[in-house]
Amino acid sequence: MTTTAPAETAWPEGVIARYLTVGGATVDLTEESAYYIPTPPTQTRAQCSGCGDRETKEWGFNILAHENGRPQPDEFDEGGRYTTPRLRRWAQRHAEKCRAMPKPTT
Ligand SMILES: [Zn+2]
Repeated sequence: MTTTAPAETAWPEGVIARYLTVGGATVDLTEESAYYIPTPPTQTRAQCSGCGDRETKEWGFNILAHENGRPQPDEFDEGGRYTTPRLRRWAQRHAEKCRAMPKPTT
């Protein structure tokens, strides 16, 4: 009998990184558009398939200024260069402590 490790299953479209949680769920990092019309990606999202916890950050602002509530559109975070590594750290921290198991798919 063989089992399929999470790394061997196909990733959903747009997922750029996947973290395995201690509960056996995954935290997926997705680059996506924040708008309802098709545009290139404008934000990074991390979402846990176990507990549903999620974190989304837009690329449009200098991330430090954004957290202080002062958007600076002239410091556009091209391609999520700063945002995506932050979300990777969020996903890593979440994966280390989340014990929610993924809902079985039948
Ligand atoms: Zn979780």
